[in-house]
Amino acid sequence: MQRERLKKYAELIAKCGLNVQKGQEVIIRCDLDQPEFVAMCVEECYKLGAERVTVEWSYMPVSKLHFDYRTLESLSDFTEVERAQWQRKVDKVSCQLWLDSDDPDGLNGTDSEKISKANMARFPFIKPFRDKLENRYQWCIAAVPGKQWAKKIYPDMNPDDAVEKLWEDILLCSRVDDDPIKAWEVHNKNLADRCRFLNDYKFEKLEYKSADGTDFTVGLNPKGIFMAGGEYTLGSNIYFNPNIPSEEVFTIPMRGKAEGKVVATKPLSYQGKLIENFWIRFENGKAVEVFAEKNQDLLEKMISMDEGAAYLGECALIAYDSPINNTGILFYNTLFDENASCHLALGRGFNNCLENYENYSVEECEKLGVNSSMIHVDFMIGSKDMTITGITKDGKRVPVFKNGNWAI
Ligand code: ZN
Repeated sequence: MQRERLKKYAELIAKCGLNVQKGQEVIIRCDLDQPEFVAMCVEECYKLGAERVTVEWSYMPVSKLHFDYRTLESLSDFTEVERAQWQRKVDKVSCQLWLDSDDPDGLNGTDSEKISKANMARFPFIKPFRDKLENRYQWCIAAVPGKQWAKKIYPDMNPDDAVEKLWEDILLCSRVDDDPIKAWEVHNKNLADRCRFLNDYKFEKLEYKSADGTDFTVGLNPKGIFMAGGEYTLGSNIYFNPNIPSEEVFTIPMRGKAEGKVVATKPLSYQGKLIENFWIRFENGKAVEVFAEKNQDLLEKMISMDEGAAYLGECALIAYDSPINNTGILFYNTLFDENASCHLALGRGFNNCLENYENYSVEECEKLGVNSSMIHVDFMIGSKDMTITGITKDGKRVPVFKNGNWAI
């Protein structure tokens, strides 16, 4: 990939994704796949005045070895070092960047129950830090190609060509053209216009229908708002773009208000495995029945991770005719696949989708119907013929999606 184009991408991530401020610390989490690009990101962050940029490298085969060889007790341990790291994050409010290049099959064969149990054991220690940090720092998830990931998407190409092709796909979907920063300004404005339209109607619920069998209604939170693209940090009011790419317009459902069956339109990559051809049926907001042709046990495990894992935490609208979907590729990666299609998420809801959320404590947000869980897992339900109708409190029906695309 051309160096100049990659530099533009790194600049986009630092300026528009993180919007690094003078004197801030930045933590970058990445795999070993693209060290030169990581260096470009580090440089762009320093150019914006970052005080310290820390890179936390990882390597999936080593992570897998930890999962395979360590005992549940050892994996569940929350060490003093980790406690200190979390405390520092709270004290310094560092920006955080994830450069995702994960091998979708990288954890195949690991004991997913052991991983789930370890995560469950660690969650109570992490939650207080996470609650303190929530919405207070800039973060961004962007992607770089990994060899295994590229091979998964393009199994017939030679490895170097596959990586190059995946770079092309990532940059195209991320709007890295001649002037990506300008492109993102325009994109953010378009997304904001859509949010305004939806928020003006104050829909009580959305009704989804599709020929594949989706027949589903989800109640929206009365205090909820639709959001998209960039957002502001709480307190410091810094505008940043948490996802590059991002096409979704999303809000939070009202906990306990979802009825009917949703059929997934793409496989779900969870804990390094693919759950395929599945559907979920909801009653009173709760997933009460699931079916999957492949890895049904994993899907069942996922929704029983904790009390909130069977309830919805997000409801996102994306046109079927979106840049990512138009590539025609299944990326096996949530950042891309979730931005290719209308989706729902099981688990934790976003408190910042509540109007004036800064006035509520985390507990109050939960009382207002925002779901709480240790998981937040998106699954895709958008299809070519999907109809979505917004229904207002007084029963007015407004077409929101027609034939898979925006009707507004
Ligand atoms: Zn989403």
